[in-house]
Amino acid sequence: MVAAFCAQSDPITGELADIKCAVSEAVTNCIVHAYRDTVGVIYITVRLYSDRSLQIEIRDRGCGIEDVKLARQPLYTTDAASERSGMGFTVMESFCDKVRVTSKCGKGTTVTLYKRLASR
Ligand code: ATP
Ligand code: MG
Repeated sequence: MVAAFCAQSDPITGELADIKCAVSEAVTNCIVHAYRDTVGVIYITVRLYSDRSLQIEIRDRGCGIEDVKLARQPLYTTDAASERSGMGFTVMESFCDKVRVTSKCGKGTTVTLYKRLASR
């Protein structure tokens, strides 16, 4: 759905693939971590500005992250038992210009992905 929305700005193929991958990592985190052993709503807001910059917000109302700085370290995972690699945030960072994470324990997490699309 995010990719379909972004398609209106006529992105190059690689940009769309980057966006899909980063959003997929953030949404997967909501499912496997935020709402672990439960179900919940995932809120996605996408903003496309006239300068071709994109802001994609993925928000959950799940368990939250105790230490965001630690969680963002490459290879850090709280779920090694499920063979997770702890690379989700690193992937998001590598496919976007900037990644912002805010979280409150017991309240939820918001991940915002920033990406400026190439001019056409
Ligand atoms: P991988 O993404 O490689 O499968 P991972 O999900 O453990 O492994 P990251 O996506 O980098 O790795 O996340 C690191 C850690 O941050 C997770 O193990 C989890 O503890 C925490 N985390 C990430 N997103 C959320 C979230 N939405 N709610 C609660 N905890 C989260
Ligand atoms: Mg992950």
